[in-house]
Amino acid sequence: MKTFDFVVLGSGIAGLSFALKAARTGTVAIVTKRERAESNTSYAQGGVACVTSVEDSFELHVRDTLEAGAGLCDEAVVRKIVTEGPERIRELMALGVHFDERDLEGGERELDLGREGGHSKRRVLHARDATGREIEQSLLRAAELSPNIAILENHMAVDLITTAKLGFATENRCVGVYVLDEVSGIVETFRTDRLVLATGGCGKVYLYTTNPGVATGDGAAMAWRAGVNIANMEFIQFHPTCLYHPMARSFLISEAVRGEGGKLIDRKGREFMGCFHPKGALAPRDIVARAIDAEMKRTGAPCVFLDITHKPADFLRERFPTIHEKCAELGIDIAREPIPVVPAAHYQCGGVMTDADGATSLRGLYAIGEVACTGLHGANRLASNSLLEAVVVAHRAMEHVMRKVPPGGPTNADLVLPEWRSGDALDVDEMVVIYHNWDEIRRLMWDYVGIVRTDKRLQRASTRLGNLLREIQEFYWNFKVNTDILELRNLATVAALIVDCALLRKESRGLHYTLDYPESDNRRWKKNTVMHRF
Ligand SMILES: Cc1cc2nc3c(=O)[nH]c(=O)nc-3n(C[C@H](O)[C@H](O)[C@H](O)COP(=O)(O)OP(=O)(O)OC[C@H]3O[C@@H](n4cnc5c(N)ncnc54)[C@H](O)[C@@H]3O)c2cc1C
Repeated sequence: MKTFDFVVLGSGIAGLSFALKAARTGTVAIVTKRERAESNTSYAQGGVACVTSVEDSFELHVRDTLEAGAGLCDEAVVRKIVTEGPERIRELMALGVHFDERDLEGGERELDLGREGGHSKRRVLHARDATGREIEQSLLRAAELSPNIAILENHMAVDLITTAKLGFATENRCVGVYVLDEVSGIVETFRTDRLVLATGGCGKVYLYTTNPGVATGDGAAMAWRAGVNIANMEFIQFHPTCLYHPMARSFLISEAVRGEGGKLIDRKGREFMGCFHPKGALAPRDIVARAIDAEMKRTGAPCVFLDITHKPADFLRERFPTIHEKCAELGIDIAREPIPVVPAAHYQCGGVMTDADGATSLRGLYAIGEVACTGLHGANRLASNSLLEAVVVAHRAMEHVMRKVPPGGPTNADLVLPEWRSGDALDVDEMVVIYHNWDEIRRLMWDYVGIVRTDKRLQRASTRLGNLLREIQEFYWNFKVNTDILELRNLATVAALIVDCALLRKESRGLHYTLDYPESDNRRWKKNTVMHRF
């Protein structure tokens, strides 16, 4: 058994931001399931929304966030995150994160602010179109220099250990986690009184996604198995513009391209967003994604196009170097021809229920970043609010820990956790079953639980998932665990949570759109969908 003051699961912006602060007071293990930089954070392009300009105000950022959230944001949480943003951004900059600046008359410089859909002002700080990579690298550099932080790559958290699981009769709390060392194949026991889930989202539950392979919803699934409340999983944000090309997997074309005047057109060059929303291509993401979906269904076309050819080639190379280069590799010159795009699953607005401090209903367990549902996003996330949320809530969570369970305070030092028992389980020889189930889940979620839903399709998905979950459960207990089985079990659990939440909500709101109930019903449904495990 290994013991740490803090165990942080995940090395994206949320986990690293927390770990850097925690390391000032105790020992920290960062458990991360692949190479340390592999995270959604590393792929974020657009930037971080934060009020930094005199033309902007906290009030406007709050208003834009509430408007996007379609009545389900927790306004108090929104205010906290928006107003504490600038201080956290200054800390990121002090760690070496370099956001783009622009020249002013008289030789002065100021932050170059991008504009994205749903924002009434330019307020998105960015590092060209690779903001996430810039943040991830700076945080990792700082973490690597800290003597109190151990970064454990290729280590996958399997399940949380709670006092209830140990058979204690007193208050339930989190006391550790089982972790699979992917190289040795051994499941280790980590003991801690402060466990932080920072495992990101679940984009991989869908066939088409902008997320990298690590986004399999592990945190939400582990929390659910430990009896923690999960909320609002029906609100999956589909990004309207993922590159459509057989050789490109999950490559996002940032909303900032539309912010710079990019137009959405069909294959005949006709702009179509004007028929769907007065803000055209800069309408909120859910509306743009639904419009593209409708346009593709209406015309039978496999994709639509994003046209930024009115901008000079030099500007595009400078402002969007990653997109420019990726498209060029595939033979698309974005200065001369429109980019083929389709919508894809992008962001999980719901998740493990927490307060504004990242505290969950299970003592000792915190959830921060995309895995959490703090109340900031409501039924729809305002673009670029997620990096902001992760960095603000990481700070707040640390303050909460110091108030409630500071390292060095009272602890059950004698608590010995049972080792993981694999029994006489055999190695998996039928990997094909795992890959088949994995594909089946992702396709059924895309076909039945996608951008436009109906009760009938959701029920179909529910029946299939019920069967799959039973089969996977059997596998899980009969064979020695490996990452494929663990991820499959988590994917199936999270898919079922999405379907159950979607089935419960008998209305359309924000990102949840169903043909059976196309209107919002404020009287009955202006509330979170909370899943309790009894
Ligand atoms: C292509 C793309 C572009 C985006 N652009 C923007 C943007 O411009 N602005 C914005 O605000 N947001 C953007 N987002 C969303 C944003 O990047 C994410 O919401 C945010 O980075 C999530 O950070 P996180 O720390 O919560 O999770 P992540 O950065 O996803 O990190 C999760 C970590 O947990 C680890 N992990 C997962 N499961 C386990 C397990 N079982 N055991 C151990 N480790 C585990 C992963 O390996 C990873 O290290 C974008 C997302 C994508 C995919």
